[in-house]
Amino acid sequence: MTRQLAWRLWHAYPGHSDELFSPMRSKAVKDMPIARWSKASKHAECAINANPHLQWNRHHEAPFENCACGIGAIPELSDVMTRYALLCSFAEKRTVDRFHFNTRPLVVVGTIRVSGKVIDRLPHNTDVPELRVQYARIRELWLPGVGADIEQLKDALALRFRVPVHLGIPQESA
Ligand SMILES: [Zn+2]
Repeated sequence: MTRQLAWRLWHAYPGHSDELFSPMRSKAVKDMPIARWSKASKHAECAINANPHLQWNRHHEAPFENCACGIGAIPELSDVMTRYALLCSFAEKRTVDRFHFNTRPLVVVGTIRVSGKVIDRLPHNTDVPELRVQYARIRELWLPGVGADIEQLKDALALRFRVPVHLGIPQESA
């Protein structure tokens, strides 16, 4: 598979952390290292491999066809913005114990360069077309919102990931 650019989303917690977190829907996975982005580049891992209680004999490289693992990557901007609206609504409606730091997250948009193994189908239905990839590297980030905490997080993300960070959401022509 050739290298390509795609979109994805993270949760950020202004005032609490300058790392990004995968917006996992499963409570069991949210606290695992696989859900935390502390560097610009990430190598997919399967939660089954990370959890000895789940391991059995099902160890596999991620992404794997018959599993949901792999780093999520959305090829189209219009699709990532559909998912963005969904995650913003979850962030508002769900109880805070669903999230890190017991507080509501900010939904961050970004581009990633994807490489390695790519699977273009999920084993279950998703709201928008999404790839599952083996390697991803953050290229650019968009941080919606205003205020001192957001400005501070913008600088911290730029320093940590060494990528351009913009305020607002990406525009269709970008
Ligand atoms: Zn897996």
